[in-house]
Amino acid sequence: MMNEAFFKNLNADIEPLKRTWPAELDISVDMLRLDAIHPIISGNKIFKLSYFLEEAKNSSRKQIITFGGAYSNHLAATAFACDNAGLKSIGFVRGEMPEKLSHTLKFCKENKMHLEFISRSNYKKINTPDFLDKLIKKFCTFVLIPEGGFSEKGAEGAMQICDHYNFKNYTHVCCAIGTATTFAGLIKASKEETILGFPILKNLDDIEDRLQYLNIPSSKKYITIPDYHFGGYAKKNAQLISFMNLFYDENKIPLDFVYTGKMMFGVNDLIHKNYFPKGSKIICIHTGGLQGNKSLPQGTLNF
Ligand SMILES: *Cc1c(COP(=O)(O)O)cnc(C)c1O
Repeated sequence: MMNEAFFKNLNADIEPLKRTWPAELDISVDMLRLDAIHPIISGNKIFKLSYFLEEAKNSSRKQIITFGGAYSNHLAATAFACDNAGLKSIGFVRGEMPEKLSHTLKFCKENKMHLEFISRSNYKKINTPDFLDKLIKKFCTFVLIPEGGFSEKGAEGAMQICDHYNFKNYTHVCCAIGTATTFAGLIKASKEETILGFPILKNLDDIEDRLQYLNIPSSKKYITIPDYHFGGYAKKNAQLISFMNLFYDENKIPLDFVYTGKMMFGVNDLIHKNYFPKGSKIICIHTGGLQGNKSLPQGTLNF
């Protein structure tokens, strides 16, 4: 199912958002609903994975190795995609094996991912030649996907997201930033529009280096907005949660608290602070990640 035709036939809706800002600003905001493309493998992850899956399927290396934390959307997407493509998957999980698996890791196991837990100190070494040697000794042949798909191949996969909107209709494209792979893909595919990235980690101050590593021409128009990480990765407060609930009431679109909630909070706040020029036409990429909300206490969200 995860072949070229799968990506060509993907149907991602674009929905206009309800206006909560003064009409005289003449600003419109649409959302690209990558969260709704598929019941399970939603969002940006499947795009970032696509060329790795293709590589594995077209080679004799029928297993994929990748990395992530216990709540990683990337691990979950990889497990599901591999299982469906007839590939084996091996996930290295940061930290010791917990007594109770997170729902994300349970999902990975249900999709036949083989999980290996490694200590946080060893996890820091996953990109070293030594670690790669160990992998080769143990697993022989495989396709390796860096954590979060952070690689040129991942960014090229993310470029396919842009097939789902017409750049001519927009002045600004907004997305959340984790590893910056998706941001890089959107920048690479952009024409005249400005790409706005919202880091959801604190002190993510190496974005320029990341974009350079991913081979992004500096001639493109992009801006990072570092003000909406809410204290760091997966950190949240009552203001963010109540914004997400209000956003759902108004638009009937669920956001996740780790990524898209923070991006939308930021976009909304910037509009109210007159950041965007009059007449701006904004599209926000809903990168999915809704499975992450399952780690919130029941009743936190009204959706
Ligand atoms: C992983 C993820 C991101 C971040 O994507 P990067 O390419 O790593 O920057 C954004 N939104 C959601 C919902 C995600 O799961």
